[in-house]
Amino acid sequence: MKRHVFSTAAFSGALLAAASFASPAVAQDRYITIGTGGQTGVYYVVGQSVCRMVNRGSDDHNIRCNAPSTGGSVANVNGMKSGELDMGVVQSDVQYRAYHGEANFEEDGAWEEMRSVFTMHGEPLTVVARANSGIENISDFPGKRVNIGNPGSGQRNTMDVVMDAFGWDEDTFALASQLDAAEQAAALSDNNIDAMVYVVGHPNGSIQEATTTVDARLVPVTGEEIDALIEEYPYYTRSVIPGGLYRGNDEDVETFGVAATFVSSTDVDEDVIYETVKAVFENFDRFKRLHPAFENLNEEDMISDGLTAPLHDGAERYYRERGWIE
Ligand code: GLU
Repeated sequence: MKRHVFSTAAFSGALLAAASFASPAVAQDRYITIGTGGQTGVYYVVGQSVCRMVNRGSDDHNIRCNAPSTGGSVANVNGMKSGELDMGVVQSDVQYRAYHGEANFEEDGAWEEMRSVFTMHGEPLTVVARANSGIENISDFPGKRVNIGNPGSGQRNTMDVVMDAFGWDEDTFALASQLDAAEQAAALSDNNIDAMVYVVGHPNGSIQEATTTVDARLVPVTGEEIDALIEEYPYYTRSVIPGGLYRGNDEDVETFGVAATFVSSTDVDEDVIYETVKAVFENFDRFKRLHPAFENLNEEDMISDGLTAPLHDGAERYYRERGWIE
């Protein structure tokens, strides 16, 4: 009897050994999640497009990618810090401040585990005002109803800096709403706000919606306060939104802007990031066709511009293999 029990144990032990020996051949699926933004913005398309490229190769690398809509840059930083997100799209100014623990990230401290992967399209600070609102420049905001953005968004983060520069606070406006990016166009056309603010690539669905459902104008973001911001911060540059992209907006509009960047953290496996960048750059022409804002992307700028945090090891490995970096 004893012997029987003993041999059963030995038998199941052998089975276990066989199972664990076999497991490397049956590679486990790895699920990755990319933080994006509102569904009518460009980050959502960035996330969906990266996932599309990654998922084409899932049979080989077993990585399965999804890219849900989020509150935007700051929500993505927080999601990566907590481990809920593996990667995320983040404005270059937000990347800088989160990495160094400055301004609105001072309380959280520097996020030293942040890693850059690549830079995407440019994102001008875009102000759209109802045509009858009397707003001709951002400097006309006092006394108006302005959507300053949801706290998880990049535009809210940038607006906080702009408001500081002008010496404004929420009481400066008749209304300072905090609607999500995807809600602002409808609020503008329903006459619940006079202006919306969006740090975003062009053309995009949100501004298209705003300008087709109501008479609305993209207005300049200029003046000495803005000049001072561009002077002071390395991540702000002058920017022009070309005319002719949206109904009723044929003239170029001057503003300042940042870049959309794709980031991750040291907590994410080198292999996962390697496979992700490889999927994007080996299908690059296909990738660029997925949104008009991606049209002018090129590899050289994408691995250098607007990146504050060091490159992720997995990205660095791929760029080195391609001979793009030493
Ligand atoms: N720049 C915006 C943000 O950081 C998002 C823009 C977009 O979704 O394209 O929240």
